[in-house]
Amino acid sequence: MRPETKALLEKDRNTVFHPSTHLKQYAHGEMPGRVIASGKGIRITDSEGIELIDGFAGLYCVNIGYGREEMAEAIYEQAKKLAYYHTYVGHTNEALVTLSDRLINMAPGMSKVYYGMSGSDANETQLKIVWYYNNARGKPEKKKIISRDRGYHGSSVASGSLTGLPLFHAHFDLPIERIKHTMAPYYYRREDSGMTEPEFAQHCADELEKMILAEGPDTVAAMIAEPVLGTGGIVPPPEGYWAAIRKVLDKYDVLLIADEVVCGFGRIGSDFGSIYYDMKPDLITVAKGLTSAYQPLSGVMVGHRVWEVLEDGTDTWGAIGHGYTYSGHPLGAAAALCNLDIIERENLTQNAATTGEYLQMKMKAAFADHPLIGDSRGVGLLHALEFSPDRAHRSHFDPSLKVGPQVAAACLEQGLIARAMPHGDILGFAPPLVVTPNEVDDIVAKAKVAVDKVMDKLV
Ligand code: PLP
Repeated sequence: MRPETKALLEKDRNTVFHPSTHLKQYAHGEMPGRVIASGKGIRITDSEGIELIDGFAGLYCVNIGYGREEMAEAIYEQAKKLAYYHTYVGHTNEALVTLSDRLINMAPGMSKVYYGMSGSDANETQLKIVWYYNNARGKPEKKKIISRDRGYHGSSVASGSLTGLPLFHAHFDLPIERIKHTMAPYYYRREDSGMTEPEFAQHCADELEKMILAEGPDTVAAMIAEPVLGTGGIVPPPEGYWAAIRKVLDKYDVLLIADEVVCGFGRIGSDFGSIYYDMKPDLITVAKGLTSAYQPLSGVMVGHRVWEVLEDGTDTWGAIGHGYTYSGHPLGAAAALCNLDIIERENLTQNAATTGEYLQMKMKAAFADHPLIGDSRGVGLLHALEFSPDRAHRSHFDPSLKVGPQVAAACLEQGLIARAMPHGDILGFAPPLVVTPNEVDDIVAKAKVAVDKVMDKLV
């Protein structure tokens, strides 16, 4: 290891509190660290000069790829002109206005955008909006939020509660009250293996309806959901799922919040996952792909029916008591505008559709009959391999074997970053939207070598 890398890592272990990390092992040098030095296209390079294909686009966010000078310039130009001013009480800036107009035109049914810095804070804002909305409508009891097992919506107090993964609740005293979790639309893991996809979709909707009835429809305000379950395992919905869910929500006057933090801005070959699946959401959360992570920026898009009530609420109660110092930050807005220009100019959403289809086809061809793979699934540029020791019975590996992390480590040895998803033995792929078919071939070939190597060890 180069002395500069060693010194940096030593300082890092002594000073940085890393997310999603075994704190003790890392601080005491019992697990490796990596200093990321630069990136270009779909590749990153570390301080040792090792180049890796980033098959997960950071955390499925660097959609336009790394090293875009145009982005750096857009941020620089905005910083020179106006690096910051707040957006409280009617203050605004040109980049923000241009961006908002563009977003509203992209998202059918949406009226206004509220800005934050992360997906977590945006979902936190969503809850406050929904609660305020029902207070303003004179329905103060209607406050519960239904999320889903395996949903991922962030890791702050409220958004971490919305998340439906035990790792994000345990030892933090979460979830908070008012948040319930219904079943995940996880066809591969269905209990009744005789069910068809549409039957399973209807079963999920029936379970949702049962929950609403058990809780009392007058107490349920909204459902939040990702169009495609992401961090919970990259699970596209079964056929007919969103139509069946929307019907139940409409029946009981329950809002739908589409968490588009991963799907938004092209990832599955459509501007939004909610358009792709015709979800007709009342509210939309965006982040990640909005700026391709060149700046932290998130947005809460508010649909017309909710907006009208919020406006009326402030008529009665005065200015809305919600605001972040960095809401509508000009650098984030400038980055988002440049990012959207690049996506449009380079047809990246279309590329996600076509190269995405190629990725799905190649993955299935490589792994459909693989003895270690129970399921190979995805949509657009999202794909998951789920490992199982017995494909016929969809059984699980002993979790202590950590098969997912083992395969991710084997991928790294091949120069490929794929993500061991936090729950279950699932390996996730979400390359930048600029990925080419040749690069897909490379990703699949490397993944195949990695999976075979782990299989050799296991059997
Ligand atoms: N919502 C979804 C669907 C996500 O995937 C994530 C992060 O992965 C979040 C919300 C939280 O976003 P952030 O990590 O920016 O707070």
